[in-house]
Amino acid sequence: MLKYFDTPIQEIFDKKLKESGIQLFVKREDLNHPFVSGNKWWKLKYNLEKAKALGHSTVLTFGGAFSNHIYATAAATKELSLKSIGVIRGEETLPLNKTLAFAKQNGMDFHFISREDYKGKTEQDFITRLKEKFGDFYLIPEGGTNKLAVEGCAQFAQEKLSNLDFDYVCLPVGTGGTMAGIISGLNGKGKVIGVSVLKEGGFLRDEIKGLVREFSGKEFPNWHLETDYHFGGYAKKTAELEEFLLRMAREQNLQLEFVYSGKMVAGVFDLIRKNYFVRGSKILLLHTGGLRD
Ligand SMILES: *Cc1c(COP(=O)(O)O)cnc(C)c1O
Repeated sequence: MLKYFDTPIQEIFDKKLKESGIQLFVKREDLNHPFVSGNKWWKLKYNLEKAKALGHSTVLTFGGAFSNHIYATAAATKELSLKSIGVIRGEETLPLNKTLAFAKQNGMDFHFISREDYKGKTEQDFITRLKEKFGDFYLIPEGGTNKLAVEGCAQFAQEKLSNLDFDYVCLPVGTGGTMAGIISGLNGKGKVIGVSVLKEGGFLRDEIKGLVREFSGKEFPNWHLETDYHFGGYAKKTAELEEFLLRMAREQNLQLEFVYSGKMVAGVFDLIRKNYFVRGSKILLLHTGGLRD
């Protein structure tokens, strides 16, 4: 299996928090592995175990040129002596950016396709053609979200979160796979607050609900998705967000990237300011990773 390092919990101390009677903690899951960090570790775990168990030697997956999933998949497959193919959205631009350069160093082969063709990536014809080109492979969808990914995140919640003392768990949401796993694994404990990093992320509520149902066969009422903290949309940022992240790094020694966890933490601070959380609450923020140099 992939190496896993136990992760600490860091408390955030701030005057505003004290005034609101809120205790804020960060589960530093970004530190669980040097390269397969954060939620991607848990999303890949059962997928890679299954690829191995089925006797596959190659994993194929999809992503944009800045995808954390591509980065993590390259490192994880290398560690497990699997080959990897990344089907990348858009034309190849040289030199490769850091994400793709890292993936390539870790042995990933790339297949660049146009944005137009990329839209057809889930169609059977398209996958058949990939098999003709590359031979047999284990397929992991874009962003790594499928039932086994949800299962990995559910295991994380069960083993590493459910024994902790909190009223809320907050996390960033891209596809909703991680959140679906957390909701399932906590099995009704506390309240799970997701922050959409996509503009117009409202559709994610149905995604999350569907993934929870597919994995656990249940429905849980104890979750909520915030859609107002995307700061302009996926991988976009504002000066205000940048300012906030610099302040968190400086005052709290907490490094956050702006695509995912940064937006979530900024959103939670705003919710605290608006008295969304009951006085006396303990809030656990999930640092889902994504930091690189
Ligand atoms: C991929 C990613 C997410 C989003 O996870 P989903 O399961 O797609 O919602 C959140 N945070 C980080 C750092 C990520 O890399």
